[in-house]
Amino acid sequence: MSTALQFDPIRLPPECEVLRREVRAFLAEEIAAGTFDPAAIETDDLFNREFSRRVGKKGWIGITWPKKYGGQERSFLERYVITEEFRIANAPVRLHFTADRQSGPVLIKYANEALKADILPRITRGECCFGIGMSEPNSGSDLFAASTKATKTDGGYRINGTKVWTSNAHNADYLIAIFRTAPATKENRRHGLTSFLVDMKSPGITVSPIYNLTGLHDFNEVVFGDMFIPDTHVLGEIDGAWKQATSELAFERSGPERFLETFIVMIELVRVLGAKPDVRAAEALGRLVAQVHTLRRMSVSVNGMLQAGKEPIVEASVVKDLGTVWEQRLPHRAREIAAFVDSGDVTNRALFEEHLAFATMIAPKLTLQGGTTEVLRGIIARGLGLR
Ligand SMILES: Cc1cc2nc3c(=O)[nH]c(=O)nc-3n(C[C@H](O)[C@H](O)[C@H](O)COP(=O)(O)OP(=O)(O)OC[C@H]3O[C@@H](n4cnc5c(N)ncnc54)[C@H](O)[C@@H]3O)c2cc1C
Repeated sequence: MSTALQFDPIRLPPECEVLRREVRAFLAEEIAAGTFDPAAIETDDLFNREFSRRVGKKGWIGITWPKKYGGQERSFLERYVITEEFRIANAPVRLHFTADRQSGPVLIKYANEALKADILPRITRGECCFGIGMSEPNSGSDLFAASTKATKTDGGYRINGTKVWTSNAHNADYLIAIFRTAPATKENRRHGLTSFLVDMKSPGITVSPIYNLTGLHDFNEVVFGDMFIPDTHVLGEIDGAWKQATSELAFERSGPERFLETFIVMIELVRVLGAKPDVRAAEALGRLVAQVHTLRRMSVSVNGMLQAGKEPIVEASVVKDLGTVWEQRLPHRAREIAAFVDSGDVTNRALFEEHLAFATMIAPKLTLQGGTTEVLRGIIARGLGLR
């Protein structure tokens, strides 16, 4: 096998299991207090200010970040455990999730000291929501075709154009967005894009909802009409955002959220099959468990490599490709496995069917968000030296 693909054999260390118990106890308390219902079909309630604040108090947002910015300087493997437990419990993390996963790390790397000191502690306290402004109506997979313009003016830039599919924009305090500061050059078609921190309170921003197939309001169209961004909000190198974008992707593509979004269906399937499934169902369920276990080992490995300071871009792409295809197929597999099961209890079966219907409706998006399957396979092929 090519050494370009290297999954270090990493296991979760003992401190992770201690943390897992703490996280489970916290989630059990929150469930008992009625904050959320882990068996509920997803609703807009996944955005919950009070819950995010309580998670922040625990020190579980920005857990890997420097202490001077409100972090705990703990490991990516500990962060993995928190993400996994919160995802499986279907906890309402929407306010802080993007900021914790990728916006904070981008600020740590590229923002000036004043921005870091102002914003990062607010993120860790669970008070600050971020969105990602990359895709545009004619620029999705081909990020470098982005045309929303940032025109230099006194003390900053004027922004004109449209971003689309912007998750969370209607709740976000900030976006990290890329805008065109110069045309691409003949030598480098990726040249000319700059990354900016957008304060969503700035005049000149119009956010309009786009409802997804389930009727939920997750993403948006965001139109910038002569919005002003100060020079201090440039993140990294002017015209050089393409150099920065790739390192963000390893954070975005490798976590357990990349194979657990439909996992509730598996939990429900186990419940419907009961304590004594027939041989056919047991064999099929065993296969699913083995597959998710393998994905988990790979995701842990990528997080261990991030901890070691590596940039496992190709491995993260493999996890996202295999993980999202798996979670996308899960509702179909569950429907087949449960097809001949007579659970005897109609109510019992109804909840399973509801989750199946919801997961089937969200399944198409799983292999699009954060980079499509085809694009990931292109990255993997390049990493292996095949193109
Ligand atoms: C639920 C959801 C949430 C999202 N949230 C955000 C967000 O918060 N912020 C944001 O900026 N974007 C967001 N997106 C947008 C997402 O990143 C894009 O949808 C994705 O990058 C694909 O871009 P596109 O939709 O323009 O499709 P296109 O790029 O037009 O692709 C169309 C088809 O062509 C294929 N294709 C394109 N290029 C290649 C290639 N080089 N090789 C092979 N096949 C190719 C694609 O795989 C796809 O099947 C979100 C999308 C979804 C579904």
